[in-house]
Amino acid sequence: MIDLVFMGPPGAGKGTQAQRLCAKVGVPQVSTGDMLRAERKAGTELGLKVDQIMREGGLVSDDIVISLVDKRIRENDAQKGFVLDGFPRTVPQAESLDRILQKAGRAIQHVVLLEVPDALIVERITGRRMGETTGRIYHIKYDPPPSPDRGEGGEQLLIRPDDQEEVVRRRLAEYAALTAPLVAFYGNRGLLRRVDGVGSLDQVSESIFRSIGVA
Ligand code: AMP
Repeated sequence: MIDLVFMGPPGAGKGTQAQRLCAKVGVPQVSTGDMLRAERKAGTELGLKVDQIMREGGLVSDDIVISLVDKRIRENDAQKGFVLDGFPRTVPQAESLDRILQKAGRAIQHVVLLEVPDALIVERITGRRMGETTGRIYHIKYDPPPSPDRGEGGEQLLIRPDDQEEVVRRRLAEYAALTAPLVAFYGNRGLLRRVDGVGSLDQVSESIFRSIGVA
């Protein structure tokens, strides 16, 4: 069993690299951002509740994301492990995660921190495009789709509303205030693996695999 947390500022390439890591170690990706977007798309009560906060680049309440993760990691496919992407994002979320895992006789083995300077983040985020049906992520320069507005299989490409520059700045501020303290939280326990997120997709993947000993 391999239980991993993937951390990094918005736009560091977390989602893309988490997908690659999952394929490598054969465990599911558990992305709170994806789960919340699915709720919004399905128009559920929860989706409606978080819509405005997500649009503005704020964080949804700890209770909501904790209960989503708690449920998700009890599912069958997560019994062999998981890669958490975008969770925990606050110290209370990390403390809840510890309790949830402890009850199940599990524990986080590695926390991968993908480090990318702020200047690069804005370029990465504003070039990001997402497939409407598959949620596949492209970048117009670094991972170009088959055409500027169509992905593989012809699906329409969208720009996430929270990827606009002003919203990105708000998300970076939230990260510095609420999520960066997790670096010390996990660092003190010897779980933190710092990885340089600057480089080609393959270079960064290799560094991630090495950091957790699966190269
Ligand atoms: P992401 O795709 O991880 O960038 O998440 C998109 C948005 O979903 C964030 O900007 C938050 O509004 C919300 N979100 C995702 N994960 C969390 C979390 N762990 N805690 C609070 N809000 C979250």
